[in-house]
Amino acid sequence: NALTATAIAASEDAVETARRHLVQPWPFAGSVGAEARALIGEGDGIYITDGDGKRLIDGPAGMWCVNVGHRRKELAEVMYDQAMALSYNTPWYTMNAPSAELAERIAGHAPGDLSHVFFTTGGSSAVETALRFMQFYNNVRGRPEKKLILSRGGAYHGSTYLSASLNGRPRDRDWMDGADELIVKLSSPNPFRRPAGMSVGDFADFLVDEFAETVARIGAGRIGAFVGEPVQASGGVVIAPDGYLRRIREICRQNDILYVSDEVVTAFGRLGHVFASDDVFGIEPDMITFAKGVTSGYFPLGGVVISARLMEELRRSNHPDAMFGHGLTYTSHPVGCAVALRNLDLLEGGVLEHARQVAPYFQAKLKTLEELPLVGEVRGAGLMACVECVADRESNDPLLIDKDVGKRIDAHCHELGLLVRPLINMCVMSPPLVISTEQIDDMVAILREGISRTMEDLRREGVWRG
Ligand code: PLP
Repeated sequence: NALTATAIAASEDAVETARRHLVQPWPFAGSVGAEARALIGEGDGIYITDGDGKRLIDGPAGMWCVNVGHRRKELAEVMYDQAMALSYNTPWYTMNAPSAELAERIAGHAPGDLSHVFFTTGGSSAVETALRFMQFYNNVRGRPEKKLILSRGGAYHGSTYLSASLNGRPRDRDWMDGADELIVKLSSPNPFRRPAGMSVGDFADFLVDEFAETVARIGAGRIGAFVGEPVQASGGVVIAPDGYLRRIREICRQNDILYVSDEVVTAFGRLGHVFASDDVFGIEPDMITFAKGVTSGYFPLGGVVISARLMEELRRSNHPDAMFGHGLTYTSHPVGCAVALRNLDLLEGGVLEHARQVAPYFQAKLKTLEELPLVGEVRGAGLMACVECVADRESNDPLLIDKDVGKRIDAHCHELGLLVRPLINMCVMSPPLVISTEQIDDMVAILREGISRTMEDLRREGVWRG
């Protein structure tokens, strides 16, 4: 279904206009406000069509979000119907029914006593909300000094000031300020990057000891929360050693540190379940943040699921007049909540089951790419995976060659019909959950060819000898 000539001309206009007027996210100073990126015109199922009419597999499902796939009529219709019924209401002193129903449905899937939902506009505002709630909670409970936040290397939690202060990926913070006085950083739990000579089991002990020692050194009385992704997504699909999350959870419980599980990527099907914290990793957090897949990206919506215990403690505190001074114009947006309800129907009605079924095939197929000498490791869980390229398999050095090897692979794959999410030396794959095994075959075949062509380029340029 190629775009028409008119559509292609319109795309060319859009590219020029963008170059003149649009500020893209994550720009470099040298091209800020003057940059055009690959234009995407249409989407259908797992496919998108670019401005030249070329059809591509949507490897990252947008940004890990188009979970039920593009062009779902049910979702478009429910958005239309809700906008015609009630397009907006002020959440300051009114409410709408879809948000109440969605909160109940989400609570029904959440682990432990997580029973109350605060809706936001996306993931950053969800993390921000969880942290501001922690601050409020500790103020009301009379311990205003219990506010520090533990985060880890490799983490990505958002682009608002406080959420971004938690980020721990290389390069993210090089030129950016942050609320560093509020944050304590711990090691990345990436087994692929563990110290040389250390077993994975010892690495898990090292991480847990580091966590416990940090709490002891700083004092639990000063630490309000730990924020962690069950699988570090944008950090390169980092899966911590077995049992590590459970052990961290326990230390948090013992020290009255709120455990915030950032499931912005992992919730709503990416790992085959609505929430992965308990169903996949066996932990019951105090709060879970979510966004992206909650509407399959059809509407900007996120939120925090909060423990009933925390609500109860606030209600029973000595400060019934204390106000949680936090709310967004689009909190509990009726159109967002309506589309999320329908999206949840689709997930519960077969998409989750499908994701669980194809995940082992997806992982096994991608794993075959380790045959290529540029590939240091393929790792993943559910329908998210990372192909990490290294210059040298002995040292696993990612930086000897061009750091942007991911971008080179992406350029070849684009030619061949696959959009990749390049991350420095890594390619992250997280397609729509409705992908079939045949489509997985296509995706991996293109990726293999894209990496092979990149290897040839690197050899030709004399920058790599693998
Ligand atoms: N948390 C995690 C784990 C994420 O991956 C992201 C975005 O990729 C965010 C938070 C921020 O979400 P948003 O971009 O919707 O603000």
